[in-house]
Amino acid sequence: MKKVVKFGGSSLASAMQFEKVGNIIRADKSRKYVVPSAPGKRNDKDEKVTDLLYQCYDAAEAGKSYKSILEKIKERYMEIISGLSLNMSLDEEFNVIEKNFLEKAGRDYAASRGEYLNSLIMAEYLGFEFIDAAEVIFFDEDGNFEADLTDQVLSERLNKAETAVIPGFYGSKHDGTIKTFSRGGSDVTGSVVAKAIHADMYENWTDVSGVLVADPRIIKDPEVIETITYRELRELAYMGASVLHEDAIFPVRKEGIPINIRNTNKPEDKGTLIVESTCRQPRYTITGIAGKKGFCSINIEKAMMNAEVGFGRKVLEVFEKYGISFEHMPSGIDTMTVFVHQSEFVEFEQSVIAGIHRAVEPDFVEMESDLALVAVVGRGMKATRGTAGRIFSALAHSRVNVKMIDQGSSELNIIIGVRNSDFEEAIKAIYDIFITTEV
Ligand code: ASP
Repeated sequence: MKKVVKFGGSSLASAMQFEKVGNIIRADKSRKYVVPSAPGKRNDKDEKVTDLLYQCYDAAEAGKSYKSILEKIKERYMEIISGLSLNMSLDEEFNVIEKNFLEKAGRDYAASRGEYLNSLIMAEYLGFEFIDAAEVIFFDEDGNFEADLTDQVLSERLNKAETAVIPGFYGSKHDGTIKTFSRGGSDVTGSVVAKAIHADMYENWTDVSGVLVADPRIIKDPEVIETITYRELRELAYMGASVLHEDAIFPVRKEGIPINIRNTNKPEDKGTLIVESTCRQPRYTITGIAGKKGFCSINIEKAMMNAEVGFGRKVLEVFEKYGISFEHMPSGIDTMTVFVHQSEFVEFEQSVIAGIHRAVEPDFVEMESDLALVAVVGRGMKATRGTAGRIFSALAHSRVNVKMIDQGSSELNIIIGVRNSDFEEAIKAIYDIFITTEV
């Protein structure tokens, strides 16, 4: 049994957090490959080391004073090293980093040092081998991740290591320069490592006890989802639930490796299991609720539209021309509505309307702004009658006016359009009817 364990920044923000992580790893012999993030925030007012590194580098590159920021970064690591009573010094490493900053090694190099240094400490603390991600994770000249080459080199390297610590977030280009994934990218490293060693499980340790049914800023203490499929997670993540880096799912999904989201501060909690598919009955009819504000709808009406072949294509071509992607497109007999992100659309609004007039000569085009979309997601909905009915009666009871309904053909989700101002109320109403009352 082999597990890859990735720890997020808040799990490694201090010596105390490192100790919790050490206990977690030692508690299970199969936790052999460790992917650390950089030290994160210790409290709400604190700063992430990654952010400090960007600031420090920007100042150094611009010829401004950077020493005080560098000192802050050094202190963060010193606290961890001394708190763990480790016999190691990062002085030499910091000399090299400072020199490279002054030689303008790049922002990616700067940011990557957060996980690099934290991993040196972790390897020392655990007595595991340190493997520099720059030697095993690759990007091409344009900065695209090279999945196949990485998989090959990484699996060869890891097969020789009984246990190892591999820093998250970065790799290197062929010319040796450091390149990072986008922010939060240590999740991706963990997934890539899990694929390379054919892990039985990818454990992703963070500061929440799993994926939550709804946004905790809207619902107080929402339930944790026990098991969720990759597809459900994708729907929820797309609609705003922040759990894992989007690119972290793909490598393990291809290999059928489950991801377990766990809480470093509550290791006794089972967390959420993310799987390809499952026979486990979901606890509730719905798996999760997510949503986003800031949409607008363009409603196009034309008598006899139903008989006009190519109508939809011509309308969508206008959006395409201005680089605007559409979210949903419910249609009626003589109407078609296109939902787009308001922020992407405003700039081109009048050009798009004019374009639609020219392309399809509609009877009229009407717009509505400040709309929100709420997605109710769940594999259990397929087998259950009355889900839509329950959603709409809950919304009606809460006096939320439904502007749009869209059920995906997979029966995995129902998307509801409401006013921005009704967004929170809509989520509360749906949570209550499915979760609070189904307990
Ligand atoms: N340290 C990086 C960030 O803050 C990467 C990560 O933590 O996943 O984005």
